[in-house]
Amino acid sequence: QPAIIAASQHGLQREQISRGCRQTVEALQENGYQAYIVGGAVRDLLAGLTPKDFDVATNATPEQVRRCFRRSRIIGRRFQIVHVNMGVETIEVTTFRGHHGEQGEHGGNKAQTDAQGRLLRDNVFGSQSDDAARRDFTVNALYYDPSSETIIDYHHGVADLQQKTLRMIGDPKTRYREDPVRMLRAVRLAAKIGLAIDPAARRPIREMADLLDNVPPSRLFDEMLKLLTSGHALRCVTRLREEGLHAGVLPLLDVILEQPLGERFVALALEATDRRVEEGKPISPGFLFATLLWHQVLATWEPLKSRGEPPIPSLFVAMDEVLHVQAEKLAITRRIAGDIKDIWGLQPRFEQRSGKRPYGVLQQPRFKAGYDFLLLRAESGEIDPAIGDWWSEFLHAGDEARAEMLLPAA
Ligand code: ATP
Ligand code: MG
Repeated sequence: QPAIIAASQHGLQREQISRGCRQTVEALQENGYQAYIVGGAVRDLLAGLTPKDFDVATNATPEQVRRCFRRSRIIGRRFQIVHVNMGVETIEVTTFRGHHGEQGEHGGNKAQTDAQGRLLRDNVFGSQSDDAARRDFTVNALYYDPSSETIIDYHHGVADLQQKTLRMIGDPKTRYREDPVRMLRAVRLAAKIGLAIDPAARRPIREMADLLDNVPPSRLFDEMLKLLTSGHALRCVTRLREEGLHAGVLPLLDVILEQPLGERFVALALEATDRRVEEGKPISPGFLFATLLWHQVLATWEPLKSRGEPPIPSLFVAMDEVLHVQAEKLAITRRIAGDIKDIWGLQPRFEQRSGKRPYGVLQQPRFKAGYDFLLLRAESGEIDPAIGDWWSEFLHAGDEARAEMLLPAA
């Protein structure tokens, strides 16, 4: 039996839920269905954070949900969810999922797993308690009913949140085997909400970290992007390394962090990213991955240059090699890979400060990102800070002052 927690005990107020989300829940309830706000939003509000988005869980099937809302559509093939448009908001409505491994309501639709026990599909409808049991952590399995202002809590998530513990629902090893990404989620959510990972959930991570190799690279990319833009990137990456999880997502990170310059550069970059998130500024994934991999590019480029190969073409060779190694683990999208290369490719051009060249650099579409990158390199001690200062001055100077700044041609 779940605990039913009254407003006076949990403190969450109906007004903290977005309007569109409340309207969606009300409409489903008026049509005779159960409907709740669930998952990250309830957890974040209870922890005093602002939710990114609101998800609704219901016992109505996707077809039934769709019939309740004029502006809604079913998306996804394997497990359908419904997007309901309410004003400017889009609310994601999910039908309660059944516990895999058991029989679904609609027959023997047992979930499929691969040889390692990883769930391949998870598309069986079920009851609310089934739905709660298939979520990952207890703090993620809380259902808020805005009409009664109660929270339905099957796994002591409210108590765990109060005790600042991230606890797995069920046997952690089994749950990691079903979905190794849960190991990354543990690190990210613990950092984001300031929770300690329960020892039972933390202990198996090191020995199971290799299971990340079986996860599709595109899914790892999505999860890493969430982690890096969580506002706690530095803490998350440090933690990934402590838990032995980084090899599966950022295979080059060890090499990079072993060199003091590389470590300092990555730390500065992630701190800057976290500051931007806090200020509500946009984060460029290309910039992020460019910083994470830069010292590997330098290490690959150096021997080519000292063999006497021309610097710029050999930089491009090094870039491709680093991106290739990284891509085996984590699928960086083509567009982002393009951004990364633009940023790296600009770096040697910042050293050319004579004639017309600096003007050409200013015209580059990715100039701003490349320049920010240059400043980080200067700040970390990799290059002479005078180069960064020169560009800052050049950027803000008028035409005449710029002309006077140009260095004599080499
Ligand atoms: P955030 O939105 O801050 O990234 P979240 O917990 O809301 O965190 P989502 O990916 O939005 O993460 O997932 C919503 C909910 O779905 C979670 O709260 C959890 O209940 C469930 N969930 C997500 N991923 C998994 C998973 N890999 N295994 C089990 N349940 C999951
Ligand atoms: Mg969410």
